[in-house]
Amino acid sequence: MPAPSSPLKAVRGTRDLLPLETALWNRIEQTARSVFARYGFGEIRTPIFEATELFARGVGEETDIVSKEMYAWEDRARAQSEKAQSLTLRPEKTAGVVRAYIEHRLDESGMLQKLFYIGPQFRRERPQRGRYRQFWQIGAEVLGPAWSGADSALRDAEVLEMLATFLDELGVKGWKLEINSVGSSTDRPRYVAALREALEPVKARMCENCQRRADTNPLRVLDCKEPQDQATIEALPKIADFLDDASREHFAQVKAALDACGVAYTVNPRLVRGLDYYTRTTFEFTVADGRGLGTQNALLGGGRYDGLSEMLGGPKAPGIGFAIGEDRLILTLQAQAANAAEKKLDAFVAPIGVAQNAAALALAQELRRAGLSIEVGDGAFRLKKSFDAADKLARRMVILGEDEVSSGILTVKDFSAGEQTKVARGDLAEALRR
Ligand code: AMP
Repeated sequence: MPAPSSPLKAVRGTRDLLPLETALWNRIEQTARSVFARYGFGEIRTPIFEATELFARGVGEETDIVSKEMYAWEDRARAQSEKAQSLTLRPEKTAGVVRAYIEHRLDESGMLQKLFYIGPQFRRERPQRGRYRQFWQIGAEVLGPAWSGADSALRDAEVLEMLATFLDELGVKGWKLEINSVGSSTDRPRYVAALREALEPVKARMCENCQRRADTNPLRVLDCKEPQDQATIEALPKIADFLDDASREHFAQVKAALDACGVAYTVNPRLVRGLDYYTRTTFEFTVADGRGLGTQNALLGGGRYDGLSEMLGGPKAPGIGFAIGEDRLILTLQAQAANAAEKKLDAFVAPIGVAQNAAALALAQELRRAGLSIEVGDGAFRLKKSFDAADKLARRMVILGEDEVSSGILTVKDFSAGEQTKVARGDLAEALRR
């Protein structure tokens, strides 16, 4: 008989989502569908795998994604009519959507295409909280021929305003929007050349990653988080000084439209993002919730990619898109819900014996009318059960037994201080408010 083997587990960086959790996933996806529909988006589903060349051309050979994170394999030909080819599990979706736009001649309608998607992506990254090898993105792309208005700053602002609405409707608290402009396809090379030149004399004292990127992809140096490199990076040339008049005007229009919609943002001149195809507006939404995401605090990112279609052999089709990290959205909502649960009720009123139930309800009524948040127990509970329930729900417990009712002196247990005190009924509301 073969030796019993240990049970198999999900592959590193992948995981199962079980019913308790999938309820939240579904809520997020339903909210996305409902919000995006209101902005005129329709769903697109593209294959999970594509030709490796699509990502090499569309995302860029020098990006981390293409150079080290892709799940690619040589797919054998099964028939004479087939050719062996290199295939890749999609690491992102924009390249696939633009490929589909070109393949299905979506430009022919002359209309703006507003497409959204929900699905898994695959990157061989180092797994950690908020970073997986199979992860989910909810994203959207707005693209079309230039005469459809696809390059208008209005579209950038519309997408950002839609994202703000989506996060607000989901109840994500404390999100922040950072924006930047990385310029047109002519501004960017001038900036990259200036960056390369400025890095030459200083790169030797930077971290290993920066040294490599200074040669291969100098823009990525701006992403470096190493504390000792920050002063050097701050002193490097800024992209804003390299924008031509048209890009500068475009960025000003994006900001003006966001101001008109009351969407708050900060301009982060270092926000260039990792992928090669970005032009002009780039953006990122983060949450300052250390418990939820730690260092992986980017909830979503995106930007404009006016030259991508042409890079993939298609017609000119300016566009803008974003991808939300759904896994990170889940972690954020879970952490924020836990924080909210910590904001406990002011008190739990625990009657001792069923005979005190009516008095307990009357006391709760009095305290609630005084503006306090109160839960009432049940005199049928044993004291231990009341204690446990009170500890979960409230900051304090008010014990109401026969003695307390007759004397008007109540026993108040404060869970965080671990103290028990006697309080006169008339002073109770004030004591609970403290
Ligand atoms: P990107 O496609 O790299 O621009 O990423 C867009 C968003 O997807 C990020 O802001 C993250 O929220 C999310 N994301 C990217 N990579 C991962 C990953 N390995 N695991 C989980 N979420 C990710």
